[in-house]
Amino acid sequence: MGFDQELFDYVIRAAKEFEDGLVSRRVVPTTQDIKNIAAFDEPLPIDGTAALDVIRTLHEVGSPATTLTRSGRFFGFVVGGAHPVSIAANWIASTWDQNAALPVLGHTAAKLEEVSARWILEMLHLPKDSGVGFVSGSTMAGFTALCAARYRLCKKKGYDLKKNGILGAPKIRFVMSEDIHPSNIAALRYMGYGSDDLEFVPVDDQGRMRVDQMPNLDDQTVVIAQAGNINSGAFDSFPEICALAKQAGAWVHIDSAFGGWLRLSEQRGHLVEGMELADSWSLDCHKWLNVPYDSAVAISRDADAMREFFAISASYLTDTGKRVPSHFTPELSRRARGIDVWATLKYLGKKGFARIIDTCCDQALRFSKELERLGFTILNDVCINQVVFCLEDEDGDEDGARLERIMREVQDGGTTWFGPTKWQGRNAFRMSICSAATTEKDLRVALDAISLAIANSSPSRLQGDLCRT
Ligand SMILES: *Cc1c(COP(=O)(O)O)cnc(C)c1O
Repeated sequence: MGFDQELFDYVIRAAKEFEDGLVSRRVVPTTQDIKNIAAFDEPLPIDGTAALDVIRTLHEVGSPATTLTRSGRFFGFVVGGAHPVSIAANWIASTWDQNAALPVLGHTAAKLEEVSARWILEMLHLPKDSGVGFVSGSTMAGFTALCAARYRLCKKKGYDLKKNGILGAPKIRFVMSEDIHPSNIAALRYMGYGSDDLEFVPVDDQGRMRVDQMPNLDDQTVVIAQAGNINSGAFDSFPEICALAKQAGAWVHIDSAFGGWLRLSEQRGHLVEGMELADSWSLDCHKWLNVPYDSAVAISRDADAMREFFAISASYLTDTGKRVPSHFTPELSRRARGIDVWATLKYLGKKGFARIIDTCCDQALRFSKELERLGFTILNDVCINQVVFCLEDEDGDEDGARLERIMREVQDGGTTWFGPTKWQGRNAFRMSICSAATTEKDLRVALDAISLAIANSSPSRLQGDLCRT
């Protein structure tokens, strides 16, 4: 095999070309670029291809059809983009090819997970001895934490889920808001629950769980609260929810995929007040921490429950007394996710990470004011990095068709990208700023693209809007 200098020289050049394009390229590919990836639809190759040709094809055909989530002008979904230092760490980690299942398969990988876990717990003011599992995303983080929670609640009732299985287990209830991120429902589905098995609580105008409408809790209940509503960015009231749960002996899990990181913010940290009172948490690293996919953490106050439920024992899996990464995750073999997390935290420091979060939130607030000036109605209280907006006509009725036209033109233009959403029954668009890459210039360019689309959609309307400001 050996080190192939030419191959890696090409990769560096290709990566640089991609990186250079982030400033000027369309954030979404053209229809033609997407058509071109049909070139990958070849019959199964019987004979191989030279490595350099493989990688060249990947770059020449694949790169143009990428969605530039790493660009500072991409505001769709809630994704964020990978930071250069995290990509560099990820490259080194790939070169090492470590398996993070066991320390013996990757001492450095295991150590960096342990250190990253300690840093994350400290940053978030969570119990020091919590269990932390490095998983693929918040969906799996929720699954992981909720499996451990259910295991513990059953154990407390004298039932060993690991030995006796789910069929004869005590019935565990799951309570969450009607506006819960659907990945939690998916996680519960993988655990054997259908949506009819779950208890949904109505929400207020920001998508927060109405605590006054919560059902009675008991010691066989898991409440799933949210730090950062996927549309509005709003936070459930953790002090109230946790107080009720604690009284009843219920478990509280917080889906903190992106909002949990607000703990770092000096200006907005109060939004996550009481987060530390919960029992488990899920957080994405591939969103606001800006590390490459796939990366998230499942955290549980009850490290033993994680270990007891997830540890896979086999005669060849020896226990060395060290923290075993796979004891906290549903996976055995996997990539060493802690490496890019460690590098990014080391590079940014707590302050640098907090600055990214506050900058994104400040940018979202300013952008929402500009959108208002352009005639849009902002539907959420822009408390963090999320902006939900729509257009109302003069009678105050929503004008879904015109909004759709404007946003389609913006999306097709490729300068910037926002995704559609449905907010409290209304058609709207959603912007999420969670990338360190977003600059003032990016925001200006995005606004210009929107202004132009408005002008093209109805010149007279634009006039009216300008008069109003
Ligand atoms: C993104 C997100 C998820 C799902 O996370 P994945 O990393 O895509 O699995 C869950 N909850 C919230 C609030 C999110 O923003």
